[in-house]
Amino acid sequence: MEKLYCTSCGKGVVGENFVRFKCPNCGKEEIIRCLVCRKNSRIYLCKNCSFEGP
Ligand SMILES: [Zn+2]
Ligand SMILES: [Zn+2]
Repeated sequence: MEKLYCTSCGKGVVGENFVRFKCPNCGKEEIIRCLVCRKNSRIYLCKNCSFEGP
């Protein structure tokens, strides 16, 4: 199974405790955010286009 890591905090995510979506700017890179980062509206950084979003 593929191991996934939160884009914002770098922690490993499992089960349903995260959301994943494509970068709203370039639509290529997949962004993964754990619930903690989502709740705290932490910034994520797209590795592909360097887009920063809440
Ligand atoms: Zn996180
Ligand atoms: Zn992007």
